[in-house]
Amino acid sequence: MNSAIYLDYAAATPVDPQVLKAMEPYFSDRFQNPSATYLAARQVRKELEKARADVAAGLGARPAEVVFTAGATEANNLAIQGVMRQFPGAEVLISDIEHESVIEPASLFESKKISVDSEGRVLLNKLSNLISDKTVLVSIVYVNNELGTVQSLREIATLLAEKLRLRRQQNNKLPLYFHTDAAQAPNFFDLHVSRLGVDLMSLNGGKIYGPKQSGALYIKAGVRLSPIIMGGGQELNLRSGTENVAGIVGLAAALIVAQERRKEEARRIASLRNLFISHLEKKLPQTLINGSKKSAAPHILSVTFPGIDNERLMMQLDEVSVQAATSNACATSSKTPSHVLRAIGLSDEDARSTLRFSLGRQTTETDIQKVVELLSKLA
Ligand code: PLP
Repeated sequence: MNSAIYLDYAAATPVDPQVLKAMEPYFSDRFQNPSATYLAARQVRKELEKARADVAAGLGARPAEVVFTAGATEANNLAIQGVMRQFPGAEVLISDIEHESVIEPASLFESKKISVDSEGRVLLNKLSNLISDKTVLVSIVYVNNELGTVQSLREIATLLAEKLRLRRQQNNKLPLYFHTDAAQAPNFFDLHVSRLGVDLMSLNGGKIYGPKQSGALYIKAGVRLSPIIMGGGQELNLRSGTENVAGIVGLAAALIVAQERRKEEARRIASLRNLFISHLEKKLPQTLINGSKKSAAPHILSVTFPGIDNERLMMQLDEVSVQAATSNACATSSKTPSHVLRAIGLSDEDARSTLRFSLGRQTTETDIQKVVELLSKLA
């Protein structure tokens, strides 16, 4: 990487050299279509299935419960549209701070939003009140990409299990599935699906030092869903199209590294985030930190600079080679203030004065010191 200070790891991560190495053969010697029947293709199929087994092992799942997708957007679409198409007239609940790739597919169906508190934590009593006889799916992001707030998936799963038990007593046969968008989670958090209590979980290679447009959806055995991309029937008939073998192998390799390093990385990055906050408190006491104090992901820091235009500040930072985000780099075209910041109670004005800094493997203490120094001159 060049001398720029990159603080946008929540938008994209560089591919780990080890991951790139694992992917390379599938662009050259091992290019065969894994659905072909000659020996070389069968070998590629074997390696693809090994990647599936590796991803499944990382989730504590069975290989048949993992479907590879082109990124988290597609995984989220498959989870939501896939389930909702199976149950016409049913309802989906999503939190107020979901990524657009959850909001948009949910809006195609009957849907309601669950509000969050001022730290971005889903309000369990609101969720409980919103669940109706026809709710079949609840989708809640594991780690929010703008605030870094982490949800207690286990607690939510327990609530849903109790609702389902009561539903069964009333002879209502509809399922109540729990989906989580875990795109921002694997570098730091547990992904064991049974410990988390989820039925569906989306993953994203491009946020874990793997390739962009690689991803997966965990689908618990027995969950009913329809394909949203139809064709040759690949990926258990849920995601047709010749498999992106290099991407799949890259995702698996990246996930293994991410999970191996996650505890150590969480400690290291959290201490950098704390350093960032303490420098801001000293040098820019007018700034406000958004998100949760207790349930914060280590890599995301959302900062409001009251009275400052965030686009302008971001461009000024860019001029001095610091790369940060106004909010959600995945939806840059939108001029409207972030729905996530609005959901936690920020005014439009404060939302437009907020930058997201996200930290990663190459971030150092010196980077943080330099950035706060620069910010104190610009903001
Ligand atoms: N979900 C979350 C929480 C994200 O942060 C992102 C990307 O920023 C996505 C989904 C979408 O990922 P992709 O654009 O790689 O499909």
